[in-house]
Amino acid sequence: MPDDGNVSESGKLNSIAHKWCWGSVDVSDGLLWNPLIAEMATAGSVMLEVWEHVLSPRQRADLTEGFAAEDEHSARVAAAFLSGVSRIGHASPSHMVSFGAGQQASPTLGRARAVWQEQALQAGLPLPPDWARVRRAAPEHITAAVLPRLTGCDCAGYVDGEQCRDQEHRGLYVVAYALNRHGADVLHADTVAKAYRATGGSAWDAVRVSLVDAVAHHVGIGALELPRLIRPSDPARLTAFGRLVSQSNGLSHGHAFGSFVSPHDTWATISDRARLHARDAVSRMGVAR
Ligand SMILES: [Zn+2]
Repeated sequence: MPDDGNVSESGKLNSIAHKWCWGSVDVSDGLLWNPLIAEMATAGSVMLEVWEHVLSPRQRADLTEGFAAEDEHSARVAAAFLSGVSRIGHASPSHMVSFGAGQQASPTLGRARAVWQEQALQAGLPLPPDWARVRRAAPEHITAAVLPRLTGCDCAGYVDGEQCRDQEHRGLYVVAYALNRHGADVLHADTVAKAYRATGGSAWDAVRVSLVDAVAHHVGIGALELPRLIRPSDPARLTAFGRLVSQSNGLSHGHAFGSFVSPHDTWATISDRARLHARDAVSRMGVAR
């Protein structure tokens, strides 16, 4: 395992640019920013822990049926992988240039942003030169737009919010659209089409491939295995899963632990810390272990 990158499915060493996507920013305690990949991996581990220690046998069986998975093991790793990649839309130009949005403006924040930007560009993160002209879309809509393509659908001709009609791939779209759905909201094809135009193109596609491969590696599957693990067809059966994903993401933020990892940390360190954080977070939910 190389120290500063990760190995993709094809076995090639990816660049380190993806480690410079930020997940959360908090300059109040000198923490600055936490890599998105660390929080994605933690969200995956939280789902594994919750599945094992929190869910009832009935809930596990319901989720497995909702996914149309062959067995609970397949459903569990697929759920963890999806939880981890549910924030893939954050790896987009419009979200990355909003570094520190929501934090109170301060000289510390300004410096943190400038240092992050310089180092991220050096690492190869394709930040746009003109931040004011970046196309905007909600990260969760970008997730719906890009995830099926990153998890096994390579069919030609389905762009701009169109869904692949291959039976094998339908589930990828069902689950990607359901991931960030709140309540009964249904994601409209036009919304996804608009998000397509804000994905940042092939340079950002490469960053997202690295992130998705890293999460897949972290939970112990290949990113392109998803269509073999689950075949969901009814979005209404994925509502409980959507809530678990939100919960896993909430528990994965760096400030939930008061500690951030560094993009200079090795992937093995980031992966280990994610598992540790997840065990902590889930045991703090007050569950008997
Ligand atoms: Zn397809």
